[in-house]
Amino acid sequence: MVDLKGQYNEIKEEVNSSIQEVLETSAYINGPKVHEFQKNLEDYLGVKHVIPCANGTDALQIAMMGLGLQPGDEVITADFTFAATVEVIALLQLTPVLVDVNEHDFNINIEAVKKAITPRTKAIVPVHLFGQCANMEAIMEIAETHNLFVIEDNAQAIGANYTYSNGTKAKAGTIGHVGATSFFPSKNLGCYGDGGAIFTNDDALANTIRGIVNHGMYVRYHHDVVGVNSRLDSIQAAVLNAKLPNLDTYNKKRQTAAIKYNAAFEGIKNIITPKLSNGCNNICDTCDCHVFHQYTLRLIDVDRDALVKHLNEKSIPCGVYYPIPLHKQKAYADDRYNEADFTVTNQLVQDVISLPMHTELDDEQIAYITSTIINYINE
Ligand SMILES: *Cc1c(COP(=O)(O)O)cnc(C)c1O
Repeated sequence: MVDLKGQYNEIKEEVNSSIQEVLETSAYINGPKVHEFQKNLEDYLGVKHVIPCANGTDALQIAMMGLGLQPGDEVITADFTFAATVEVIALLQLTPVLVDVNEHDFNINIEAVKKAITPRTKAIVPVHLFGQCANMEAIMEIAETHNLFVIEDNAQAIGANYTYSNGTKAKAGTIGHVGATSFFPSKNLGCYGDGGAIFTNDDALANTIRGIVNHGMYVRYHHDVVGVNSRLDSIQAAVLNAKLPNLDTYNKKRQTAAIKYNAAFEGIKNIITPKLSNGCNNICDTCDCHVFHQYTLRLIDVDRDALVKHLNEKSIPCGVYYPIPLHKQKAYADDRYNEADFTVTNQLVQDVISLPMHTELDDEQIAYITSTIINYINE
């Protein structure tokens, strides 16, 4: 699905020398590399504060802790996402409220969010799934009306732009009260281990969060709040510093691959290629509205599991993200939920298939992947 070795070979010298600097200084924890990366990412995103942490799941949890959410507070999020999003809500003893997503862009459905709001609702967690922003303008409007916090799960869309209806743009993850991302190796900006970060434009919240990631300490050995230990280590920061200048190029390469996939599948009636939303209608050089963390097809009247098996036999990696809606997972099932409210997710889990998507895909690979799929469907 990804080619981390191929990508490393292209930037070997930068990465090696950046790691070497850490080894020479032996500043493994909170060293200058971490600070340097924080500044570089703040500049790249155009956000006031980046707080690095240990992984994307921690980033979400810490964001919720920083906002002071309390047990019993209801937090609305998408039914169709990676479990980390709902996991941290449950872990903090907040009440997860899962809602359906859109058929076209797989992102949280605005009408479903509105319907789910109660007097106990405190926050919405839109997930920018597969590399494209949820409808942030509508979400921020709902949040303002109901006095809710918005926590963006930006683990899959770093570098993507969101375009408001007036044409202004903002980077994914910097629009809500707080954003969280992951630097897991296969993410669009991945390190060589675990890593994550929290973004916010709110000075007071940033200060609170900086204490939370460090055992609730604001003054050394004075623990004012219950915190966690969640750090980005200097070696991972070194890798990220070497890779960040390439992020836009990496995302462009993903977009180019998506354009080629789309072209190959054009006119195949059993395949629905990924749809753009938020007013964007084609993948172009300037918009970056979709950074294709995943390239995900919907299959119509195709035995998906048989196709997966066929692709595996042809040595083509593929993935099903996600095979089970969160509201049907044992850990998150709840009598409150009504199947009729999840018609889209229930359908998507049967239809979707994600194809290899990374920065090193070449024309030959794309041709092999797409022709294998098309031949199988036409058989
Ligand atoms: C990867 C991912 C996370 C979690 O990130 P980790 O760094 O693996 O903890 C959270 N949410 C989504 C949507 C993700 O894809």
